[in-house]
Amino acid sequence: MRTDTGQVFRLEDYRPTDYLIPRTDLTFRLSPDATRVTAVLTIERREATATSAPLVLDGDGLTLKRIEIDGKSVEQADLLMTPDQLTILQPPAARVFQLTMETELAPAGNEALMGLYRSSNVYCTQCEAEGFRRITYFLDRPDILSVYTVRIEALRDEAPLLLSNGNPVDKGDLGDGWHYAGWHDPFPKPSYLFALVAGNLGKVADSFVTQSGRNVELGIYVEPGKERLAGYAMDALKRSMKWDEEKFGREYDLDVFNIVAVSDFNMGAMENKGLNVFNDKYVLADRETATDADFANIEAIIAHEYFHNWTGNRITCRDWFQLCLKEGLTVFRDHEFSADQRSRAVKRIAEVRTLRAHQFPEDQGPLAHPVRPRRYREINNFYTATVYEKGSEVVRMIRTILGSDAFRAGMDLYFERHDGEAATIEDFIRVFEDASGRDLSQFSLWYHQAGTPNLTVSSKHNPVAREFTLEIEQSVPPTPSESRKRLMHIPLAFGLIGAGGEPVAYSGVEGASVEDGVIHIRKRRHIVRFSGVSERPALSLNRGFSAPVTLSVEQKADDQFFLARHDSDAFSRWQAFNTLLTDTLIAAVRHTLDSKQHAFARRLTELAGDIAGDETLEPAYRALALGLPGEADIARDMGKNIDPDAIHTAREALALAIGSANQGAFSSLYDSLADKAAFSPDATSAGRRALRNTLLDYLALLPGGAALAAEHFHSATNMTDRAAALAVLAHRHHGSHEATTALAAFETSYGSDALVMDKWFQIQASVPGQQTVETVRALTSHPAFSMSNPNRVRSLIGTFFSANQIGFHRADGEGYRFFSRMVLEVEKRNPQVAARLATALRSWRSLEPGRQAKAREALLAIANTENLSADLRDIVERTLA
Ligand SMILES: [Zn+2]
Repeated sequence: MRTDTGQVFRLEDYRPTDYLIPRTDLTFRLSPDATRVTAVLTIERREATATSAPLVLDGDGLTLKRIEIDGKSVEQADLLMTPDQLTILQPPAARVFQLTMETELAPAGNEALMGLYRSSNVYCTQCEAEGFRRITYFLDRPDILSVYTVRIEALRDEAPLLLSNGNPVDKGDLGDGWHYAGWHDPFPKPSYLFALVAGNLGKVADSFVTQSGRNVELGIYVEPGKERLAGYAMDALKRSMKWDEEKFGREYDLDVFNIVAVSDFNMGAMENKGLNVFNDKYVLADRETATDADFANIEAIIAHEYFHNWTGNRITCRDWFQLCLKEGLTVFRDHEFSADQRSRAVKRIAEVRTLRAHQFPEDQGPLAHPVRPRRYREINNFYTATVYEKGSEVVRMIRTILGSDAFRAGMDLYFERHDGEAATIEDFIRVFEDASGRDLSQFSLWYHQAGTPNLTVSSKHNPVAREFTLEIEQSVPPTPSESRKRLMHIPLAFGLIGAGGEPVAYSGVEGASVEDGVIHIRKRRHIVRFSGVSERPALSLNRGFSAPVTLSVEQKADDQFFLARHDSDAFSRWQAFNTLLTDTLIAAVRHTLDSKQHAFARRLTELAGDIAGDETLEPAYRALALGLPGEADIARDMGKNIDPDAIHTAREALALAIGSANQGAFSSLYDSLADKAAFSPDATSAGRRALRNTLLDYLALLPGGAALAAEHFHSATNMTDRAAALAVLAHRHHGSHEATTALAAFETSYGSDALVMDKWFQIQASVPGQQTVETVRALTSHPAFSMSNPNRVRSLIGTFFSANQIGFHRADGEGYRFFSRMVLEVEKRNPQVAARLATALRSWRSLEPGRQAKAREALLAIANTENLSADLRDIVERTLA
């Protein structure tokens, strides 16, 4: 474990290296406790570098067995070794020389899952961001691109399969039960994209013919016996390859493309060149074990990692400050892919919900940072919703501002100009400026400035002058180390809607530049006047969520109800209903519901019934609309002095009101949606299941609800329905005979399937109630649970922290005490996963004073622990700052 050194890395300190490594030849002789790695590096001094410049290589916990330069051993006196560096004080005078090093590793004992490790008898690597330095000494930074040739030697019985990046070149027998394989990757790449996998795995094989007619062999490797679960992933891969050719003109470039699923993995998946390594949760699926959400995630993540081949691998990042260059852009690409494969409107709503749930709290709390941060202590902590999700929104805004054609021209220029390079955000912005002739300098603040901008909007209609006026003011709240903010360029899509739902035409506009239904906000305050508008229109703002901002709109409830029924923009229509729900819930939490608002609530329950039964809307859309804002969403929108118990009570009451008012209609719709056809994971079928399961959640609150949910559970023919019913029983009827029976039945059926048991842990960890902390504590001793497997830790402990508002935020602080114990316990094995868990308290300052004090104590208990990892200390200290 790398303990914290307090070192801060700054963007402005970037400097190119003195040396390059054009070639890297690696030989691995694999053994669980003593793997030998021989690295032969071709080192080249840059022209500008003085001959006396030392060569400083990164390392982390390595045992160096041998070091030679040009075949001659290097004297100890010529070396300087610290725990994280190896310095060759006087490299040879020749500009190019060969450095040979032999290191010894113990993959079996590597529980941090960074570098080379062994999981379920499979050797596997994870090098992003700084794992390669745990394999050999290297210039372990993304701007050092090298051509890799790799030879893997292993006992054939232990590892019949030997994989690395690039194309296979060689294999053979070595006697004594050993064998080897050689791989060569012709594309220069940074060390974080290096990968090796060796073990006994089953293979699903297929092939793909690229647009230029090249044949690519595709392989998905899984635990033997699980091959039949990889079919959906393979299908998603082929669709991704085709889509990237059609939509971005990007063709695959090697002869093989391999994916390996492993059960112990810190992240979702990793885009290593030609050899993607996946968390098995994002590969394995069939109707019996995976939910519709799992299928959608597999499709999106397979696509994401594949798309990285161009946005990340062929063009990589100059340094880790530029992480969003590959991540934000690739998330944008996978969102577009999913939107094309499924329903664009539904996908957009889901994206925005995710952004608000994960990124908005980040921007509003102590961990706020720009999409391109300027400093970090531990880069592992910057794989954040801001870099990924907000990073994607920024790319989306570029497309909104430029239009699709100029955006595509900019992307083409990006690929043409920077292929084979390590680029920066400035390079990325420049291609769009060059391709479109537009000035994006003010816009680029989206990369450099943290915080969610707020737009305050009011409107006025003057029937005599036939003028409709919008007053729009922007502000960006202060964030840590950025107290003063500059004005942003915000593309705000809008619509003016007439009484019949039709768009309202206007004859002129002044006060801001308005093009293609988008108002370009650039100043602090705009007064936008639309002329030739005779009747007051309803105002639809931030259509399609064109900008990741919060809106404070002075708008009549009647207009919101109108938009929730008539807005032609599907996102804004959903938003209008969601705003009505949120406003009602917040008023209920604050006990400010008056008689007027009771009438309002009645209108709302009626509208919910109408949306549920509206056959012109896709079932998936109706399911999203009827899903009430989550307790964490309500807390975020309230902002401060949060009492999770009051929020829970208000939300349950509204759910009951909607369910009771619509019982008959919901019940017959529920019956009509029962699946009669054979199971299919496609979006339309999934949408019907989603709507039916949402209705079940309402109906379960009414008399007979437990029996209905139990029937749903026991008659389910797929995991989506089974898991949904189990959650309804466990959450709505906790402790009932029906809930207990269903939980036991689920455990009996799936006790030996770790990924399915994750759902069982998740459902129990999110049971709203004071007692859940005890349940979760007891479940940490369950035989299917393991403290060293990230998926298990996230499903039980992570879910309790992030998805159980009243259990985790128990007023007596027991949830928080459990938090500090668990975070420290996980950290002993895996600092990266522990640091991620610790972000669950990032919004502690928004709690009411009693809980706030107890949350602070829990954070201090971690901060006061000696020898914390760099990962955890960084998060905890920033959270407390
Ligand atoms: Zn990625």
